[in-house]
Amino acid sequence: TSRFEVVQQGPPIEVFQLNRMFLEDPHPSKVNLSIGAYRDENGKPWVLPVVRKMEKQMANDETLLHEYLPVLGIEQFSAASTAMLLGEDSPAIASGRAFGVQTLSGTGSLRVGAELLNKHLGYTDFYYSVPTWDNHRLVFVNSGFTNPHTYRYWNAQDRAIDFDGLIEDLRSAPENSVVLLHACAHNPTGIDPTQEQWEKIADVMEERKLFPFFDSAYQGFASGDLDQDAWAVRYFVKRGFELVCAQSYAKNFGLYNERVGNLVLVINDASLVPAMKSQLTWIVRGMYSNPPAHGARIVANVLANKQLFDEWKEHIKLMSARVIQMREALRAELIKLGTPGNWDHIVKQIGLFSYTGLTQRQAEHLVQEYHIYLLKSGRINICGLNPSNVEYMAKAMNDAVV
Ligand code: PMP
Repeated sequence: TSRFEVVQQGPPIEVFQLNRMFLEDPHPSKVNLSIGAYRDENGKPWVLPVVRKMEKQMANDETLLHEYLPVLGIEQFSAASTAMLLGEDSPAIASGRAFGVQTLSGTGSLRVGAELLNKHLGYTDFYYSVPTWDNHRLVFVNSGFTNPHTYRYWNAQDRAIDFDGLIEDLRSAPENSVVLLHACAHNPTGIDPTQEQWEKIADVMEERKLFPFFDSAYQGFASGDLDQDAWAVRYFVKRGFELVCAQSYAKNFGLYNERVGNLVLVINDASLVPAMKSQLTWIVRGMYSNPPAHGARIVANVLANKQLFDEWKEHIKLMSARVIQMREALRAELIKLGTPGNWDHIVKQIGLFSYTGLTQRQAEHLVQEYHIYLLKSGRINICGLNPSNVEYMAKAMNDAVV
């Protein structure tokens, strides 16, 4: 007997399960469109050259030690990261009302930010889009948000944003609800609001006194341009909102397993920053005490050096351009096959993912018959496609649809 007999098997995490099934599948034509990680045109993971360069340099640097970092991490990292999000010339930074703290990638930022809002401001209601990244709800519930709500986002019929539904749902949200917004490259749909739509979202949130919590996991990855991908966050700051934003360097630096993130806070009163930092310190202290250094050092060094920074910007341009090319290639192949339906949404969507519109049955058909691994929602990671397999993918989709 064991006292652990009470522990029951939980459900699998879909995306990790599919990734494992892919790795174990011996089929020569298998394709992995599940997990959200960049792959090059040969289907291989890509360590950014600027990251390799930094790592080689760091390996020879005898002054780098493995001492503990401060609880809130490397200050130069957080400052550079906050400036990358809000813009070098951000008045909120200049006036000392905006600051960042180093966290465990995007997920850790969401967790620490949510806990601050729950424990110190007493917020309990939060809204996330349908659909959204499948971890959002769990992170907020675990942070103490007892009242999860959803807002409409995807109109399956038009394969577009359900903007009227979104606005209606936000209008009926209770005051002080936290609204989780994807800063760019909405996961999983790949559809972002237009600038006019963001303005309307801001209007409703202001009117209803809702609190914006941005999730920025793909800055630079959506358009290839860091400023363009930060437009929505900067717009909300300019409108005078107090807000928080979770930044992740998993995708845009390819530092998935290094857990490099930054939680940005923008508040109205700079004199409150020391108290906020002290309470964030206690939140982190009780959760994991302090963050790891390796990845944050890489990002801090790259962001601080003009030449390295430019090199990195070329990398994100290259990655986003490859994604855009593959979107076009997939659509072109489907048109060539005469696959019924309109496939324009594949090229209209941005970021790593496409919400193909394939049904669960069709998605399963691709897994079972073609060894093409994708989520049952029909979401595919576009980077899993390359010139050698895009035709195969289109044929499989054609077979599933026809
Ligand atoms: N938010 C969104 C929307 C994401 O897609 C991801 C990664 N899949 C994350 C946050 C967090 O990722 P990480 O913790 O690896 O930075």
